[in-house]
Amino acid sequence: MPFLTKYCVVCGKRLQIRLDENQNILSGGHYFGKMEVPAKDAKIIKSWKDKIGGFEYWECEECYTGDR
Ligand SMILES: [Zn+2]
Repeated sequence: MPFLTKYCVVCGKRLQIRLDENQNILSGGHYFGKMEVPAKDAKIIKSWKDKIGGFEYWECEECYTGDR
């Protein structure tokens, strides 16, 4: 299975997302859908948006579970 590379919106960590054949996330991060406007850290978001041409909201395991 190929990996997708995404970035955690909260801490900026690179995520290696593993999908099954039905595009379900097996491991690597938590996906919340596409977002129009970021609530915070807008500079970081903008640079990603320029780079990848869109913005998807991902969080890593640590941020998702609230360890920050
Ligand atoms: Zn994170």
